[in-house]
Amino acid sequence: YKRVLLKISGEALCGDNGYGIDTHILGNIADEIKEVIASGVELAIVIGGGNIFRGVAASAKGMDRASADYMGMLATCINALALQDALEHKEVYTRVLSAIHMQELAEPYIRRRATRHLEKGRVVIFAAGSGDPYFSTDTAAALRASEMDCDAIFKGTKVDGVYTKDPKKTSDAEHYTKLTYMDLLSKDLKVMDGAAVSLAKENNIPIIVFSITEDNAFEAALKGEGRFTMISQS
Ligand code: UDP
Repeated sequence: YKRVLLKISGEALCGDNGYGIDTHILGNIADEIKEVIASGVELAIVIGGGNIFRGVAASAKGMDRASADYMGMLATCINALALQDALEHKEVYTRVLSAIHMQELAEPYIRRRATRHLEKGRVVIFAAGSGDPYFSTDTAAALRASEMDCDAIFKGTKVDGVYTKDPKKTSDAEHYTKLTYMDLLSKDLKVMDGAAVSLAKENNIPIIVFSITEDNAFEAALKGEGRFTMISQS
């Protein structure tokens, strides 16, 4: 791969705490990103916010959905700054580009500028999702991957791929090595929302689901090694 997009779910950052940021996990992710960058791959990152705030959950409790989603987007900015800090401690050059303007903290999202940063070998962290409510950071990941002309979307979660059932709840869950976009849409597998899958399908960008909390799993998945689920056209 020449250029990839890594989607890190907010949940992966909180470890067993169930909330917030586990700095140890963040440090491990930063180590792995450093290795990947050293191998010459251009890396864009979309970071989630579910470890801090989720719009849908708050709107279910009566909050206005759009307001709740803006809060969710701000949560992704907190994670983006935390990841930037962890990466800079390991001397990895990064830029945070936010879809919501906050000029004291982050550059505004400008597609050509983002591309230039990637060409210069900087890790680009996209904060605030797509900047629009009613979307998820998975959709933002598919959108940015399309705009940045990425070769693949690596979705880093707490589990090492897609299973027939939730592997954390049942022991007889079976792991999928390969799936098609249509499988995801028709079987309603809760991997990514439909909008994200459709966008990836339309632009023919494979999605690789792997465990970001496992040591070296990202590097291995980039080489096609280790355990993951590949989602593509056929
Ligand atoms: N969000 C949004 N628009 C976007 C991306 C995110 O409104 O383009 C909000 C939404 O409320 C979401 C929250 O930000 O619940 C956090 O993102 P997400 O749930 O996708 O994070 P993850 O599940 O990856 O931790």
